[in-house]
Amino acid sequence: MNYVSTRGAWHEAPQPFSAILLEGLAPDGGLAVPERYPAFAPGELERLAGAPYRDIAYAVLSRFVGDIPAGDLKALIGRAYTAEKFGSDAIVPVRELEPGVALLQVSNGPTLAFKDIALQLLGELFEYALAREGRRITILGATSGDTGSSAEVAMRGRKRIDVFMLSPHGRMSPFQQAQMFSLDDANIHNLAVEGTFDDCQDIVKAISADAAFKRRYAIGAVNSINWARIAAQVVYYVHGWLAARLGSGGPIDVAVPSGNFGNILAAHVAKRMGVPLRRLILATNENDVLDEFFRTGRYRPRSAAETHATSSPSMDISKASNFERYVYDVVGRDPAAVRDLWARLANDGGFDLAGTDAWKAVGASGIVSGRSTHADRIATIRDAASRYGVVVDPHTADGLKVGREHRDPAVPLLCVETALPAKFAATIREALGRDPSRPPAFDGLESRPQHRTVIANDADVVRAFVAAHAQPVE
Ligand SMILES: *Cc1c(COP(=O)(O)O)cnc(C)c1O
Repeated sequence: MNYVSTRGAWHEAPQPFSAILLEGLAPDGGLAVPERYPAFAPGELERLAGAPYRDIAYAVLSRFVGDIPAGDLKALIGRAYTAEKFGSDAIVPVRELEPGVALLQVSNGPTLAFKDIALQLLGELFEYALAREGRRITILGATSGDTGSSAEVAMRGRKRIDVFMLSPHGRMSPFQQAQMFSLDDANIHNLAVEGTFDDCQDIVKAISADAAFKRRYAIGAVNSINWARIAAQVVYYVHGWLAARLGSGGPIDVAVPSGNFGNILAAHVAKRMGVPLRRLILATNENDVLDEFFRTGRYRPRSAAETHATSSPSMDISKASNFERYVYDVVGRDPAAVRDLWARLANDGGFDLAGTDAWKAVGASGIVSGRSTHADRIATIRDAASRYGVVVDPHTADGLKVGREHRDPAVPLLCVETALPAKFAATIREALGRDPSRPPAFDGLESRPQHRTVIANDADVVRAFVAAHAQPVE
């Protein structure tokens, strides 16, 4: 399988998986996508029923990874998805809430959010690819919480990798902060920036735009536009369908709490590969750019100033970076059409697909949407606790709320649990009047020694810090 850019680069010379693995954006500013979606042959999916998660992962990932030998890929998958890291051999348990409604529990990894599924694999793939090519990489990232800890835990102690993670000083939950700052590995550098998450992102962009610096330190990214992250997430939709079709063999609906459009894009890819997913139900919080698009055809990303800080903070995103990959599909995989739409985005601040062939393709893709508010989250957390005896986190509550609104009793509904409630204790206390339980490994987390450098909101100061602590490659 080879890869092209959504905006046209590489179409003459599609790139192998290893070439796009360590890159962020394509040279034309687009995103890497597979030349075509690999399909499952009839009967092939069914034969995976009951297979271990790792075997399903190999069946999916081997279709996307063309240039890693089978035995090596199996070994990487075997190291990424262990009972030790994910709490059980199921890796991703499916828990029935009531007949026909189940939770896809993708958040049992080391940092208690679904991002571990992708980042644990990415850690293995990076180390393998860097060793094979005799290279190093300096990962520079910005986080508002979940991505940072998931990336750091996946990359800690790895020889050819240094991580510099920027976070907004004093703005993460105490649990999230402790998760990142309690790591004491020499290759992990936590920079607490005196500013907001957007300031952190701007600093990363400014430093990445410095081509000479980027080359000298081999600056790379692990953000959600990395294709390997999407591929890793396709696996749990295959696994989820196998587990949740409840013997019927028929299609299911999935409900996905969405921010950067990565998780639901993986569901879309799974569907294009032949997994019988009928509706993909996208849930937003008060930051409802994507809900507006799927209801009206109008895509109008908001500015940072118009982005609300909510109690499902990992979805407080107004410019969903993976959305471009979906648009590439609905315009018939035509890079000229994507370039045109992104030019309109830059000039007019948005575009409108209503009435076009692309809008018909949106309808055919099966994505429907809805929006959830703080009051909805609280009500849903209470309802799930009293009805099912299950405490869900605020993001999962957004998905459950919107999933129910679109529920068709004839079709099983699988709701993706994107984090465990332990990460968001304040909202759970508000809803239930008690603290969420936490896995024993996290007892006393907040009182462990913390390692971080408070740093000025200034790209030059951060650049100097990276230069002083990273290893140059040239
Ligand atoms: C990252 C995250 C999301 C959003 O997922 P996307 O792939 O960005 O759409 C939702 N919930 C939680 C808990 C997250 O960490």
